[in-house]
Amino acid sequence: MKITDFLDKFEKISSTDNFEKKFVRGIDKTCKFCSKTSNETTFNNVPHVIPELFGKNNFTNNEECDNCNTLFGRFETDLANYVSPYLTLIGQRTKSKVPIFQSRKGENQRSTRIKNINGNPHFNFGSNLSDFEYDYQNNQLNVTLKKKKFVPINVYKGLVKVGLSLCTTEELENYNKTIDWLSQREDDLENTIFDIPLLLLRTRFSKKYYAKPAAILYKRKHSISGNIYRPNLCLVVYSGILVFQIFIPFCDETENINPKEYKFEYDLFPAFVFDVDFPKDQEKIELDISDMSIVKYDMNWRAQVEEDELIGFKYDSIISN
Ligand SMILES: [Zn+2]
Repeated sequence: MKITDFLDKFEKISSTDNFEKKFVRGIDKTCKFCSKTSNETTFNNVPHVIPELFGKNNFTNNEECDNCNTLFGRFETDLANYVSPYLTLIGQRTKSKVPIFQSRKGENQRSTRIKNINGNPHFNFGSNLSDFEYDYQNNQLNVTLKKKKFVPINVYKGLVKVGLSLCTTEELENYNKTIDWLSQREDDLENTIFDIPLLLLRTRFSKKYYAKPAAILYKRKHSISGNIYRPNLCLVVYSGILVFQIFIPFCDETENINPKEYKFEYDLFPAFVFDVDFPKDQEKIELDISDMSIVKYDMNWRAQVEEDELIGFKYDSIISN
């Protein structure tokens, strides 16, 4: 896989930059998801294009009614459980303050708590000493984060919603089936056949940091050819030190293709290039992306899962008490 592969095949069509402080009260509105107008429904909530659990932001819109806002807001608990430990560690502000991370705990156990004070993580690990490991020689602290339980498919749906919010009304016409899928109750989805795998690609920066979250929507440049299928839309979300990438399922164009006959291809968004110190005076660099910390998840899972993640911190000093 080359760095340029993704940008050869996809182009940017929308981003959160287009939605800065867009929400206005008292004007005629039409909901882009259910097509209802101000005469038929209410538009009192301030809909965020990217939920504030990814970080405080003012990317809002005028095209989401209160009903749809509540309906699609139901994925936010799972999304928050999935991303919150990182936000605490790096001190990302959500609505008003940096969230306090509390680990998943067993019976008669206390959670490990991580609180961010003035940009520095403070750990209170109570009796869970095994979650922490000091590597004195390398000045490194290794922490096992026991995240709260989350439902992978809801995390995926929450991200798909971000993608649809970035779509123009015209582009959204190709995604009615996707809107139906987001609207359906989770237990009605037993027999859903997906046109693409529900892949979530995640990169973690070690140097770069996005205090304000951002989301960018990419569209495939070329039409489908041969028996290879690349999804039409790809969403990339930045938050703090994390970059998420997903593809939007159920584009109309897949109605007539048989997923079994097509080979699904995905290209990795080259976020990791921002994390590399480019040697000066050098036009080309060779990167071995197998060294990068990129993880690929299959999110097609409707039950709660537990996930532990090992994160290593380099530190200058640790104060313990
Ligand atoms: Zn609506």
